[in-house]
Amino acid sequence: MIPSPPLTPARHALRGRAVTFGANPFLDDPARALVYEPDALILIEDGRIARFGAFDALRDTLPPGTPLTHWREGIISAGFVDTHVHYPQLPMIAAYGEQLLEWLERYTFPTEARFADPDYAAGVARRFLRELLRAGTTSAAVYCTVHPHSVDAFFAESARLNTRMVAGKVLMDRNAPANLRDTPQGGYDDSLALIDRWHQRGRQLYAVTPRFAATSTEEQLDLAGSLLRQRAGLFMQTHLSENLAEVEWIRQLFPRRGSYLDVYAHAGLVGPRSVLGHGVHVDEDSFHACHAAGCALAHCPTSNLFLGSGAFRLFDALDPRRPVRVGLGTDVGAGTSLSQLQTLNEAYKVAQSTGRRLHPVQAFWLATAGGAHALYLDDRIGTISPGMEADLCVLDPGATPLMAQRAEQCETIEDLLFVLMMLGDDRSVRATYVAGQMVHDRDAPAG
Ligand SMILES: [Zn+2]
Repeated sequence: MIPSPPLTPARHALRGRAVTFGANPFLDDPARALVYEPDALILIEDGRIARFGAFDALRDTLPPGTPLTHWREGIISAGFVDTHVHYPQLPMIAAYGEQLLEWLERYTFPTEARFADPDYAAGVARRFLRELLRAGTTSAAVYCTVHPHSVDAFFAESARLNTRMVAGKVLMDRNAPANLRDTPQGGYDDSLALIDRWHQRGRQLYAVTPRFAATSTEEQLDLAGSLLRQRAGLFMQTHLSENLAEVEWIRQLFPRRGSYLDVYAHAGLVGPRSVLGHGVHVDEDSFHACHAAGCALAHCPTSNLFLGSGAFRLFDALDPRRPVRVGLGTDVGAGTSLSQLQTLNEAYKVAQSTGRRLHPVQAFWLATAGGAHALYLDDRIGTISPGMEADLCVLDPGATPLMAQRAEQCETIEDLLFVLMMLGDDRSVRATYVAGQMVHDRDAPAG
């Protein structure tokens, strides 16, 4: 068992530098979108942010006796939001040598087959969530395996930590090993039982999760679409146009569909709260259709570089004339880090390779408020403001000697954020709070 940190009181306050957002910096001037408070007070009550503003303006409003934690060197941010990640692939991160389809066969399927053992699933779920919190990530859209108990293992641990998570059982009834295949009806029944067990129980949310169009028959995709209509507020997650060989395979498997996206749209899978991983090779028509449908794309730069899949055209997706919702995804195990700071490092380089400049304010928006917006959860998470759930991380810009000397030369908060996203990783996360409770303390003595 992971030792539980000491319980934080229901009412407490944080003081320190704070960054959050008042607008979308891809549609607005980044300088105007950023809300920077150099000496902030955040009052937390019963898991929510009750007040947020300048310490000097709010100090006299603090109820007497409220415990106050002063993060003198830290920068307080909303917790990071990871919009695409596979918890069962944590044990196989950094697997050498293949591109997508061969990588699935050689590494992913054998690893996911181990989840037939519920104890194994529970152990990986615990380690995965522990690692997410160490990285400052407080919410994620998570793929489990085809085994229903892999979902129980994940949600049970998430419920224990009280994290707001979106997750679901992978649906896969063809083009996979026999021990990882379900059937259209079996997958439907298992998913519905999991939805009734976990969806909207506390902070847990369910996502109908066909792995991708090549591993589901049309019948299974249609049933997945029908699942989405059974309960309010369900999510849908799958993969879209990640790799050119995959795109060609989908064209052969679904010759009657106009595009890869259309395969999902035809099954009723594309709408608000649908999260499509990657979208590296989508055209203007598909961007337009995503905008019109209100679905989201998950940009996974470390994964796209690792598997040699290609460069996602972030600024085309976010074109203000028809902006598509975009979140940031780590896509572990093809992604190489659970850290959103590391993911932003690669997102910056991918944008550079397409001739665009990812401003640090835009980058941090993507990793927090933008991810929440992509998931239609921006009324609850992703920003620091009264009424929001108190999911926060405290970033340490001096986490390593190199970072400390570089940070000393920063004259603006934008420059400091850029240093964090280029040089930072889990070492730069000093603490993480979930619903007001401290769940990670980097400097706590090992227990
Ligand atoms: Zn993925």
